[in-house]
Amino acid sequence: MRHGLLLIDETGRIVLASGQTLHLLGSEEALISVGSSLRQVLYLVRDHAGDTWSQVRAQLPRSFVQPDSSRFEVTLRGHLLEVHLHPVAGGRWAVAFEDVTARRAAEAQAEEMARHDLLTGLPNRLLLRERLNEALGRLQRTGEACAVLLIDLDRFKPINDTLGHPMGDALLKKVADRLRSTVRVTDTVARIGGDEFVILQTGIRGASDTQILARRIVDLVGRTYMVEGQLLTIGASVGVALAPNDGEDADRLLKNADLALYRSKLDGRGTYRFFEPEMDARMQARRQLELDMRQALARREFYLHYQPQLQLEGNRLVGCEALIRWQHPVRGMVSPLDFIPLAEEIGLIVPIGEWVMRQACRDAATWPAPLSVAVNVSPAQFKSERLVEMVMSALSASGLPATRLEVEITEGVLLNESEKTLQTLHRLRELGVRVSMDDFGTGYSSLSYLRSFPFDKIKIDRSFVSDLSGKRDGEAIIRAIAGLGRSLGMTTVAEGVETADQLERIRAEGCTDVQGYLISKPISASEVFKFLTLDNPR
Ligand code: C2E
Ligand code: MG
Ligand code: MG
Repeated sequence: MRHGLLLIDETGRIVLASGQTLHLLGSEEALISVGSSLRQVLYLVRDHAGDTWSQVRAQLPRSFVQPDSSRFEVTLRGHLLEVHLHPVAGGRWAVAFEDVTARRAAEAQAEEMARHDLLTGLPNRLLLRERLNEALGRLQRTGEACAVLLIDLDRFKPINDTLGHPMGDALLKKVADRLRSTVRVTDTVARIGGDEFVILQTGIRGASDTQILARRIVDLVGRTYMVEGQLLTIGASVGVALAPNDGEDADRLLKNADLALYRSKLDGRGTYRFFEPEMDARMQARRQLELDMRQALARREFYLHYQPQLQLEGNRLVGCEALIRWQHPVRGMVSPLDFIPLAEEIGLIVPIGEWVMRQACRDAATWPAPLSVAVNVSPAQFKSERLVEMVMSALSASGLPATRLEVEITEGVLLNESEKTLQTLHRLRELGVRVSMDDFGTGYSSLSYLRSFPFDKIKIDRSFVSDLSGKRDGEAIIRAIAGLGRSLGMTTVAEGVETADQLERIRAEGCTDVQGYLISKPISASEVFKFLTLDNPR
């Protein structure tokens, strides 16, 4: 019974009324029956619509004969009616009524739901933004300061992944409860992402108010949870931005809180950081580097240098290590130490590493056998499923036999997911590819990693070689690693050999191979050929 219809003739009289119309317009049916005028109907509406009468009148066509139509809403006895006036043939008018009370209520409810997170019932990003804008409006008017605390849960993802999403959801609800319990009613706790929450703290007197809250959050979220009989521990990293100092609009505040959050994660998580302007500068530099790096592949700004490796017995050149070089049109030469870590962090190392592998295999295929090429492979490349496939493809495309390819990995590769990584290493090994442990001695539990996979080669980090000149312990370490390599049947390469003196000592300690400026700096692919023709470089 939500629709009603009246037909009005050119003189303004009702000639037809559906039963629902009378029902919709209420009890004073007598007023509106066939024969009464539209004016009467509208008076009736006015009596119950208060101010909206002027709207009704304003929207009425000047004369009923004018072809026009209009729509307006009036409230009648607690019901919201939508009224449409349509001109019909012969100067007549159709007036359609619809009771939209329920629909509007549902719409309002949907609107409310659209502003909340279904899981926790907390305000979502949308409502947070509204509240933040309100708070910033108050700041403008009254000078009342506010703060944005961006909270990211530490170690939530592994719990979600290993114990399942229902557990993860239950945990998130508990976190939400704790956060809710620790703020004042005037503050807003919102959930804006999987494990990201924001607290909008209002009416603060100074940064210390916010600091107290930030500290409390880190402490509270970090306490053990009991979820379905299991004890779970997570942590919170918090980034804080204060208005007006760190920004006067919502976007800037959230962005600066995010920069501060990034900092607190870098500083070891489980802590809070306040935004500082230099965080922004550093981040922008990083973002620019990222953009440049993304373009570098397409613009062919990367190229490879090769550093010869010498077998001490017989002073024989056995292979070269491929080292990436980046010549940027404005930055100039960028060291791999400056861009590889970022490329690893953002996953760009996967395509870059693929390019290196393909190029290195192509170049090495032109060298005389059995000269091999060593390619550095990052932990992030091991995370991608395609590594073995990519190596096979690079080998077959270049025609380089697998036995002439070596991959250099650092201990970081074995640090996480070692089971899967070991499988990948074994598959590479089955192809005939050799595997070296790079920068040995700089990581963590080196010995257990050496035992976990039969490496072909251990590369002793150059810091121990440079220690040879000064401290005595460099010598002891090199001797120990060389001995280890001998008994495990692995080649030992001393990296970063720069002086004849270092070379002699390394030889004396029993290393099998050397690499370093003394033999050669990294050189271009074409220079490798020249190098080959030099008899016995050292
Ligand atoms: P790394 O694999 O340990 O490579 C050896 C580094 O030591 C190279 O630096 C090389 O130029 C340098 N070096 C060699 N001999 C000497 C010496 O006698 N004295 C001194 N002071 N340094 C020497 P580079 O080329 O700057 O590379 C640095 C690091 O960047 C590499 O360390 C490797 O971890 C990474 N890297 C380079 N190219 C690639 C690549 O294609 N992929 C990946 N994932 N990482 C790469
Ligand atoms: Mg290396
Ligand atoms: Mg190295």
